[in-house]
Amino acid sequence: MTDADPTLPPRLSTATFDRLNGLVTRAEDRSDDRAVTETFTGTEVSRVPECAPADVTLAVERARDAQDRWAERSVDERERVVRRFHDVVLDRQDELLDLAQLESGKSRAHAFDEVMDVTLTSRYYGYRAADVLSTERRRPAVPLLSSPAEVVRHPVGVVGIISPWNYPITLAVSDAVPALLAGNAVVLKPAETTPYTALLLVELLREAGVPRDLVQVVTGDGATLGPPLVDDVDYVSFTGSTETGREVAAAAGRNLVDCSMELGGKNPLLVLDDADLDAAVEGAVGACFTNAGQLCIGTERVYVDESLYDEFRDRFVEAVSDLTLGTDYDYGVDVGSLASADQLETVREHVADARDRGATVHCGGEPRPDVGPYFYDPTVLTDLPVDAEAACEETFGPVVSLRPVSGEREAVDRANDTRYGLNASVWTENRERGRAVAREVEAGTVTINGGYVETWAAIDAPMGGMKESGIGRRHGPEGLLRYTESQTVAARRRAITHPVGVQDGLEARALTVALRLWRRLPFLR
Ligand code: NAD
Repeated sequence: MTDADPTLPPRLSTATFDRLNGLVTRAEDRSDDRAVTETFTGTEVSRVPECAPADVTLAVERARDAQDRWAERSVDERERVVRRFHDVVLDRQDELLDLAQLESGKSRAHAFDEVMDVTLTSRYYGYRAADVLSTERRRPAVPLLSSPAEVVRHPVGVVGIISPWNYPITLAVSDAVPALLAGNAVVLKPAETTPYTALLLVELLREAGVPRDLVQVVTGDGATLGPPLVDDVDYVSFTGSTETGREVAAAAGRNLVDCSMELGGKNPLLVLDDADLDAAVEGAVGACFTNAGQLCIGTERVYVDESLYDEFRDRFVEAVSDLTLGTDYDYGVDVGSLASADQLETVREHVADARDRGATVHCGGEPRPDVGPYFYDPTVLTDLPVDAEAACEETFGPVVSLRPVSGEREAVDRANDTRYGLNASVWTENRERGRAVAREVEAGTVTINGGYVETWAAIDAPMGGMKESGIGRRHGPEGLLRYTESQTVAARRRAITHPVGVQDGLEARALTVALRLWRRLPFLR
């Protein structure tokens, strides 16, 4: 390594940032830029180009030019590139983990979850895309008389991906992988605070064989770059807050461009009266405090059957109090930092509002400037009024509230009493009961006896939000087919109708008989 800088993690240097800055699309030689800080300390480590709308235009043009040639390659060939990407990510994970930790402040273990996600996604689609995208035969207009219809999948063209800061590895690239496999180009707009993680991923995609211009990155302000991006692309894959998602979906709607919206949540965890308490306590700690609670599918509300409530609360509070905070660029720390001063402010506000309204703070409840400027102690609240901010708004921090419930019905009703519907978790020793309760919960994913890992990692199954948590699904065939235009091609085998339809009453009567018969013949239905 050159330029070793003692203030940076061991594998990063100023040369790393200079190299990555060279991957940002810029229409002309301008000098405007913005600071990128190390979250653990709040100190500036580099300056990334501040793109303008003209850069977005250029990025989309370049991507569009590269897309045709990419789409001409076979899906098998594209799959091979994605499988190489899988290996490159594993090989270069140290640098990736350093950058993700530096930009977002998360612990190493939580950054590694992201590497896992990218490899799981790349492996899944890297072996399945050709099958999912292959031309399908569907039933013909008139069985026996006409040929089967064919459904052909075309790429949409250029996909715009707008991503948040909380999972800077996963959310920058895991939605890009299926978009590329479907034959599209990608223009990526990462969050303002995590550009270098996204840029390194683009470098790794190129190392794996993705053509140079096929994936473009524009860095900078979302409100400036988002609208022109949404106006220029053929599909928008947005992950972020419900508030911004609403604006982006409206703009996509005006352009009649399809989109997927992966938005916020206020996810419940239900502990039923027959739950294994040891497992539920341990699982709830992970579900609530992974990534310092800055996880869209993380738990913020826990409903415990009253028969187990006191014991659950005491054991949960004890386990949460034992979590360690730290700034190491290595494994061994339980929970990292909040990502920014804004996040810290939201958490402070929610906890202050909870206290004002009479909630009990069992542990945490305070910032930890002794560890780093944006650290906050893992916090457990009880007696939280249902209209408190921490009860109904997404906190997106290390804060969870517990509430006793009198049985399954109340647990489900309370779980559903929210405008969100992203993820939920149900704990019970009876899996069938768990499945029945899961079907009553209004959430796009429900994990039984787990927080979210089992549903998230089941990459073959779709994932996304109900209600105000989103539109569309990632993962599974759905997560790939969203990036295609389907085209139906059907051939007439012989003349079965007149060019302008039924000519006379006799023919209409004959067709009426045929239609009646058709419904009654099972092999023709
Ligand atoms: P955000 O909505 O503020 O920003 C997300 C992205 O949108 C950023 O890249 C930002 O620059 C960009 N943006 C901002 N204004 C824009 C505009 N007018 N037009 C287009 N783009 C614009 O969200 P955030 O604070 O970065 O992320 C946290 C939120 O994301 C939380 O609500 C969390 O629940 C949600 N999230 C959801 C998922 C999911 O899969 N459902 C995953 C992670 C995070």
